[in-house]
Amino acid sequence: MSVDTQSESIWSLAVHGGAGQGREQEANIEHADAIRAELAAVLEKGAAILRNGGTAVDAVEDAVRRLEDSPLFNAGRGSVFNAAGEHELEASIMDGRTLDAGAAAALRGIKNPVSLARLVMQRSPHVFLQGEGAIAFAKAQGMELVDEAYFSTEDRRAALELAKRRSPPPNPSKQGTVGAVARDVHGDLAAATSTGGMTNKAVGRIGDSPIIGAGCYASNASCAVSGTGQGEYFIRATVARDIAALMEYGGKNARAAAAHVIRRRLEVLGGEGGVVVVDRDGHIVFEFNTGVMLRASVTHAAPVRTGIDRRDALY
Ligand code: ASP
Repeated sequence: MSVDTQSESIWSLAVHGGAGQGREQEANIEHADAIRAELAAVLEKGAAILRNGGTAVDAVEDAVRRLEDSPLFNAGRGSVFNAAGEHELEASIMDGRTLDAGAAAALRGIKNPVSLARLVMQRSPHVFLQGEGAIAFAKAQGMELVDEAYFSTEDRRAALELAKRRSPPPNPSKQGTVGAVARDVHGDLAAATSTGGMTNKAVGRIGDSPIIGAGCYASNASCAVSGTGQGEYFIRATVARDIAALMEYGGKNARAAAAHVIRRRLEVLGGEGGVVVVDRDGHIVFEFNTGVMLRASVTHAAPVRTGIDRRDALY
């Protein structure tokens, strides 16, 4: 078998549904069966795309859209509330083949932010649109808009009320975010990330998820990365790009690069969270310094596996 033929049969897809500690950790464990079932269903669909020769960009958009549509995760439907009791969503996507990228933030009423990010990437001359301009662009592209109530769930409202009742109010807490990374049979990589942000966040706050190089990055020269955790730390530690740079310039493999950035940079700054990484050969790495990270993977050679805490051995 020639090297090319071998490469054509290799594909990988991995997703996360957020990382957390404490109460968030308990909530996730409570819903563990439903979370595992949802993650597995999403990966079965993505696997079909990649198995049939679909692109990494198609696979990550599809996976993140499905996670956005599920109320179990903090993205799209099921997004957390900001301090004003509203939802402001954000997402990004990156094509490792071309280094094209798209992002959108401060979104209201956009059902699938990841698809808006993809439209920004493919149909605008820009990388990042936010607020009114992003929403106007979405409308011009014929995207589906929904009422604010579509995003709201009882669990998220209870989380906001709890945060507001506490005195002094706690720092905005993280509760989710979804992301996907893929390596397709053509040898191309892609990453996508989408979130409702953090419960009780200030109106107008933007986290790492839509910031290329912080919560999302992909380059065929190294890897594709999607992150979840405290955005303010992920931005300052340039988590996603640092992992790629350690591989590209520093010669580290994906596991060593991800461990270095999460343990030696994010954690040292005081941040919590995790990443999913896929490299050029389709190797998947999950690295996190929280109690749980909702996650799942599938490759040409391995069936769908799901994980919640560290007892689940994935990659
Ligand atoms: N990274 C997200 C943010 O800071 C939150 C999360 O991943 O839980 O908006």
